[in-house]
Amino acid sequence: MASKGTHALSLRILAECKTTKARACKLKLPHYVVDTPVFMPVGTQGTLKGLIPEQLEELDCKIILGNTYHLGNRPGHELLEKAGGLHNFMKWNRCLLTDSGGFQMVSLLKLAEITEEGVKFQSPHDDSEMMLTPEMSIQIQNSIGADIIMQLDDVVHSCVTGPRVEEAMYRTIRWLDRCLKAHQRPHDQNIFPIVQGGLYPELRKKCVQELIKREVPGYAIGGLSGGESKDDFWKMVTLSTEYLPKDKPRYLMGVGFAVDLVVCVALGCDMFDCVFPTRTARFGNALVPTGNLALKNKMYAKDFRPIDDQCPCSTCKQYTRAYLHTIVTNETVSCQLLTVHNVAYQLTLMTSIQQSIIEDRFPQFIQNFFDKQFPHTDYPQWALDALASVNVFLKKS
Ligand SMILES: [Zn+2]
Repeated sequence: MASKGTHALSLRILAECKTTKARACKLKLPHYVVDTPVFMPVGTQGTLKGLIPEQLEELDCKIILGNTYHLGNRPGHELLEKAGGLHNFMKWNRCLLTDSGGFQMVSLLKLAEITEEGVKFQSPHDDSEMMLTPEMSIQIQNSIGADIIMQLDDVVHSCVTGPRVEEAMYRTIRWLDRCLKAHQRPHDQNIFPIVQGGLYPELRKKCVQELIKREVPGYAIGGLSGGESKDDFWKMVTLSTEYLPKDKPRYLMGVGFAVDLVVCVALGCDMFDCVFPTRTARFGNALVPTGNLALKNKMYAKDFRPIDDQCPCSTCKQYTRAYLHTIVTNETVSCQLLTVHNVAYQLTLMTSIQQSIIEDRFPQFIQNFFDKQFPHTDYPQWALDALASVNVFLKKS
C-alpha cells in the first residue's frame, strides 16, 4: 500500500475562486501535466472513434479515458503487457485514465451478478462463467499502465433505494482495501477510490469519511448521472466535495454536458469524463455555445458559415455547415469531423473556465455562459439552486 508522499501525482492549486468552490490546478501525472478543471474524452479500444492520437494532440488534449472492459477483451491485457502498456501500443504519450471495468460489465452484460468476491458474468465469447474481482481489475489496469486507475466498486443504479445502497457502499470500501493491496505499481500509477452511497447524504458522508482514512492520491465521485433528478445530483456532488480533502484531485465520473460541467466546477470538482460529446457527434450533432446544432436539419443546407466561427478546430477552419449537412449521413467522414469539433468544444470550454478562475472572474463567466445557453433566461431551477448554494445568483437580463 502506498504511504504518504509516494503517490505518482502532485496537485498544485493555482487559484481558488473567491465566490464558489471552484479551483484551477496543475495536476502533474507520470506522462504529462494536466490543467484542471479538465474534461477527459472517452476512448473505447484505446482510441476515440474516428480520431487518431496525433489529432488529439493537435487539439491539445492532455488526458483521455480508456475502458478496461473493452481493452481487456481486445487486445487483451497480456498482449498489452507485451506491447509495453497501452501508451506504447497506441502511441499516445500523454495521460491515460482507465476505469475498473465493473461499470461496463454491469451495464453491458445482462447476466452480471455481484457477490462479495467480485462481479460474476457470462463470457461474451462462450457461455463460460467468469469473475472480475477487485484484484483482477487492478492486475489488468496495471498491465494497461494508465496514469490513473480506478478501484472496482459495487455499482448500483442511482435510482435504487433501500439497504442495497448501504451494502454497496460498504462493499465498495472493502473492495478498495483489496484493490490497494493488489496494486503493484503505486510508484507510477495512481489509484482513485470511488465515493458511493446513492442519494443518501448520510451514506455519502460516511463513505467519504472512510475513504479519507486510506492513503490515496485522489478521489472519484461515482454513482451519479444515471437518471436521478438533477436536484439530487447536485446535492450529492456538493456534499461529496465538502468532505473531500482540498489538496487532492476530485473526479466526477460520467458527467460531460456543458451546463453540468460549469455547475460542478463551481461545486468543487476538478475532473470529468463522458461519452456524450463523441457519441452525439456520430448522430450529426455539433456542440456550440448556444447548445447544439443538429446538422441533419434542412435549415443548414445553404448555411455557409462554419459550425462556430470562434472555434479553433480544423473542422471549423475548413468546412461549412452546408457541407457537413450533406455528408452527415456518411458516418465515417462526418463522425471524424464532428468528433474533432465536439472534443475541441469541450476542451475550449474547460480552458476558458480555468482561465476565468485564475483571473478571478468565474462568477461572471457563469453568467455569460448561461446567457448564451439560455437566451430566454429560462435557466433550469436545479442549476439556479446549485449556483446559489455557492453564492452565484444568476441575473435575468
Ligand atoms: Zn470547431
